[in-house]
Amino acid sequence: MIILDGKKVKEEMLKQLKEKLLLVNRPLGLTVIQVGNNSSSNVYVKQKEKMANYLNYNFKHLKLASNIKETELLNIIELENNNDLVDGIIVQLPLPKHLNPSIIQNKILPQKDIDGLTNLNSGKLVSNSDCLIPCTPLGILDILNYYHITITGKHVVIVGRSSLVGKPLLNLMLNNNATVTICHSKTTNLKDITNLADILIVAIGKKHFITSDMVKDNAVVIDVGINSENEKLYGDVDFDNVKDKCSYITPVPGGVGQMTVLEVGYNVYKAYQLKKKK
Ligand code: NAP
Repeated sequence: MIILDGKKVKEEMLKQLKEKLLLVNRPLGLTVIQVGNNSSSNVYVKQKEKMANYLNYNFKHLKLASNIKETELLNIIELENNNDLVDGIIVQLPLPKHLNPSIIQNKILPQKDIDGLTNLNSGKLVSNSDCLIPCTPLGILDILNYYHITITGKHVVIVGRSSLVGKPLLNLMLNNNATVTICHSKTTNLKDITNLADILIVAIGKKHFITSDMVKDNAVVIDVGINSENEKLYGDVDFDNVKDKCSYITPVPGGVGQMTVLEVGYNVYKAYQLKKKK
């Protein structure tokens, strides 16, 4: 069994990105808009800031009151859209209940949409056109590629159908010639399906939900889950129980989460390149 080391891949790929950035004649700009004070969001924004500092990006963190009106927030996004020195914009999720995430996300200019969640980028991913791809699915693709794990012709089973992870991953894996099955909370006989997976990707948010009886011998297991308990992080996969059955497995922490942060950096560079092409 080989552990897919997200930290190592992130460090190597960040160095490569830094070299590409030497050819850019100004620091790239990333704005992260956070509404309220969600503790997980605080951690994720800090990780993005650290990555941005390493890449010498101009990092702007707009932390807004949790009761901000929708129109006010839309106006703030508009200002960032119109700022030529801002290459990428992220609205940190989750948003407070009174804000409609679809309206907010779709206010971001598609070419600055680092999370790849606007309708235009989602549609382009479906049609396999060049676009900004959501960071976690992109990170999963890159870690598989880094370890030379073949995707073409493999049966990829995804557990979880969120707009952030499961759905874009479905299209990304299809675009990479996998045969894909996607499961969710209403799926019946889940275990029968996960047992068919050459590559099993789990993004449900339930600590240690996947156990060895759900995994085929020599499967590649990618654990997206981040579940916090008593200040410790756990995946959706019961790592110790499953690891000896796999050919490759990602740990939590140190797996997919690391790749997600890396891809934020890459997507800012990609957004800059998309702008240059226009
Ligand atoms: P989400 O929006 O809550 O979606 C969870 C998905 O899991 C839903 O599609 C749900 O099905 C499905 N599900 C829940 N219980 C299930 C069960 N018993 N059997 C099968 N499917 C089940 O979650 P998300 O945003 O995708 O995040 C999932 C996990 O990944 C969380 O732990 C999150 O913190 C983590 N995450 C990590 C990263 C990273 O960088 N590592 C990035 C994003 C998210 P229904 O659609 O039927 O409700």
